[in-house]
Amino acid sequence: SPPAEKFEYQAEVSRLMDLIVNSLYSNKDVFLRELISNASDALDKLRFLSVTDPQLLTDGVDLDIRIQADKDNGIITITDTGIGMTRQELVDCLGTIAQSGTAKFLKALKESKDAGADSNLIGQFGVGFYSAFLVSERVEVSTKSPKSDKQYVWEGEANSSSYTIREETDPAKLIPRGTRLTLYLKHDDKGFAHPERIQKLVKNYSLFVSFPIYTWQEKGYTKEVEVDEDPDEDPAEASKGEQDGKTEKKKKTKTIVERYWDWELTNETQPIWLRNPKEVTTEEYNEFYKKTFNEYLEPLASSHFTTEGEVEFRSILYVPSIAPTGKDDIVNPKTKNIRLYVKRVFISDDFDGELFPRYLSFIKGVVDSNDLPLNVSREILQESRIVRIMRKRLVRKAFDMILGITMSEDKDDYVKFWENFGKHIKLGCIEDRENHKRIAPLLRFFSSQSEEDMISLDEYVENMKPEQKDIYYIAADSVASARNTPFLEKLVEKDIEVLFLVDPIDEVAIQNLKSYKEKNFVDISKEDLDLGDKNEEKEKEIKQEFGQTCDWIKKRLGDRVASVQVSNRLSTSPCVLASGKFGWSANMERLMKAQTV
Ligand code: ADP
Ligand code: MG
Repeated sequence: SPPAEKFEYQAEVSRLMDLIVNSLYSNKDVFLRELISNASDALDKLRFLSVTDPQLLTDGVDLDIRIQADKDNGIITITDTGIGMTRQELVDCLGTIAQSGTAKFLKALKESKDAGADSNLIGQFGVGFYSAFLVSERVEVSTKSPKSDKQYVWEGEANSSSYTIREETDPAKLIPRGTRLTLYLKHDDKGFAHPERIQKLVKNYSLFVSFPIYTWQEKGYTKEVEVDEDPDEDPAEASKGEQDGKTEKKKKTKTIVERYWDWELTNETQPIWLRNPKEVTTEEYNEFYKKTFNEYLEPLASSHFTTEGEVEFRSILYVPSIAPTGKDDIVNPKTKNIRLYVKRVFISDDFDGELFPRYLSFIKGVVDSNDLPLNVSREILQESRIVRIMRKRLVRKAFDMILGITMSEDKDDYVKFWENFGKHIKLGCIEDRENHKRIAPLLRFFSSQSEEDMISLDEYVENMKPEQKDIYYIAADSVASARNTPFLEKLVEKDIEVLFLVDPIDEVAIQNLKSYKEKNFVDISKEDLDLGDKNEEKEKEIKQEFGQTCDWIKKRLGDRVASVQVSNRLSTSPCVLASGKFGWSANMERLMKAQTV
């Protein structure tokens, strides 16, 4: 047989392997999750390709994952019947670091200053194939791709900078397709090769993998066997039997346990979204979320629904409990947060606003439709009427779910939501006119009467004075400066509440909304604020009295102001700089200036 060829790892790979081993030493069991997830990805890829090339599946081999643990020798084998790898793919995938999970892991390590300290945080990243070396001294990857006639074996050792690839020649080791990983465990980690331990890990980490996972388990059944008459038997007992006259030569039986080994289905193969929502517990939804999206925190809310009629699909949506860190996330719709299935076949998680507008791109979930073609492409997605209908429904369901959080018994839930995703929702005011009615009730602001806790527009409206027609707001850079603005004086005196818009995006959001429950939003810093307390007679008098003073001040200030007027909007301050009715507010002007610098 041809000799094994030796390869050096790309430099980053060696470094990454050290990092993984050093930072995850207390969390070693993630290796199984990673390897199962690779097997599942490989099966997904095969199933996806078989849609256009049914030949791929004609060998009669089922799509599944099988894990065998040999405790005597400390060996674990993980076999999948997925897409496999060609010789070149072995080099590209297992010798270099272009791959997603591992790349993300590296980035996270670079970002966290003290990498070893928080293995919990690191545990949420897919660390990928190399996690096999957390527990293995040696790893063999024997793999057969449908693109190649030959089966190849990749072999690597812990703490080595090289690996080998050779052709598989042992007929006993040939597989029809897919990949078999053999892990030769390190001395101290041989305990992982226990069938019960493997079973526990699969249940814990990979319960929701959508292909069957079988583990090799010892089983037993009880059986009655006949035994020879015991010669020492109590004679009284024996004669009793004879007296009954039933059995002359009574055979004695004994129960024994017959042991044997067999494959046992270890995960849940029915996808959770196909189950009846009434029968799924919150814990199951949360587990599914954590496993599917590699999250370590529970979601804030979830929603499981089926839609019928024009377009049928099933979905489970989630609101995460924290926003992803990083500046561009709010405007980056490419989040891999929605996993699209067609008839249970995973199609894609690579969307660019097709299923959710970008301001809702933080929503995570799965969507499974029977109405889309299996070979759906990006172009089809973008042009499909079905997808447009799906998007509309998904958005509505997402809003219902978020509204649900506002009604949660734990008031902190919505506070948390707003802290993390308030900006997204406000972006929705600007970008999604069609959903203003759904967005507005979700908004929260501080106000002149509630500087500590934010209030909703509904709360504001409820607190309006009987004669009050508009919703008043002032934009400022902080609650303190909003509180100190002279524009507020008169309103405070009249006990009228004013919203404090202290987030830069607030003012634009409110201006896009224009009104809420038929009440206009009115900026109290604008020129002609009408508080409904005009006394025309008196105003006329005062205007006459101070007309010359105003003219004189205007002359002195010249072009720096548009006009100087007598106003009834102040109570203690002598004067105020107001914005023109059609001009920018002072706050907007400040923002625009900040942007052009
Ligand atoms: P990721 O899964 O994030 O891509 P991994 O390090 O886990 O990163 O895996 C690297 C690559 O190796 C995968 O992208 C895939 O191409 C290949 N691979 C790993 N395991 C398998 C497998 N069981 N079958 C086919 N290809 C695999
Ligand atoms: Mg992986």
